[in-house]
Amino acid sequence: MNLQLCYSDAYARSVEARVVAVEDGESPLVVLDTTVFYPGGGGQPSDRGLLLRAADGRRWTVQAARKVSAEIVHELEPGVEPPAVGDQLQVDLDWARRLALMRTHTALHALCGVVWRDYGALVTGGNMEPGAGRMDFEFERMSGELVDEIEAKVNDELTRARDVRVNVLPRDEAFAIPDLIRTKINLLPPGIAEIRTIEIVGLDLQADGGTHVANTREVGGIRVTGYESKGRINKRIRIALTDA
Ligand SMILES: [Zn+2]
Repeated sequence: MNLQLCYSDAYARSVEARVVAVEDGESPLVVLDTTVFYPGGGGQPSDRGLLLRAADGRRWTVQAARKVSAEIVHELEPGVEPPAVGDQLQVDLDWARRLALMRTHTALHALCGVVWRDYGALVTGGNMEPGAGRMDFEFERMSGELVDEIEAKVNDELTRARDVRVNVLPRDEAFAIPDLIRTKINLLPPGIAEIRTIEIVGLDLQADGGTHVANTREVGGIRVTGYESKGRINKRIRIALTDA
C-alpha cells in the first residue's frame, strides 16, 4: 500500500514519489509509492494539486483523488498523456485549498463539541468545502436564538488555543470511550482493527479520517450563515470561516 502522509502529517504539502501504476482512461489514474493527497471522505473533499517530473519539466494537474481498494489514486485531467510507471515525480498539494479545508474541518469539530456538550445533540452528518461547511444534528429545540448563542460559544472555544491531536487506537479501546459513541464509529466496517481519533483537547473527541489544523487558534473565527429544519428533530447549521 502506498505511504499516505495525510493521516499522520496534515501539514505535509509536498513529497517526492515514484509512479507505481497508471490506468489510462478518459481521466488517467496514477498510483504513487507515497503521497500527500487526501482522498476525500467524512464530508471533506479530496485534494487537488500538481505532479511535476523534474527530468523534463512536465507537469500534470491532479483534479481529484480517491481511494481504490485502500490505495490513494490521483485523477488527472481528461485527455492528457499520463506519466509512466517508474517516473520520479514531485507531488504538490493546492495548499491554500487544503489549509482552508483543514481549518473548516476543525471548526466543524468545535461546533459538534459545543452542541454536544451544552445541548446534548447528536451529529447525523456533515459536509464542507474550503471555508464553509454544514452539520446536521438531532436537535429538536434548535432556534435562531440558540444558533446565535452557539456561534458565540464556538468562537470562544476557538480563541482558547486548544491543541488538536490525532490518535490511533485499537478498536476495543476506542469503543470503550463513551464520547465516541455519539459519532458514527459503529458504522465503521467490523474488519477495521484500529480507529483514528481527532481530539480537540478539552472540547471534542471523534472517530475521524480527515485532516485538521494543530490548534484551534489557526481556525480564526466562524459565523453561522444559516440554519434549517430538516424535519421536527433533524436540524442543519451552516457555518463559514470569518475570513473566507
Ligand atoms: Zn474531522
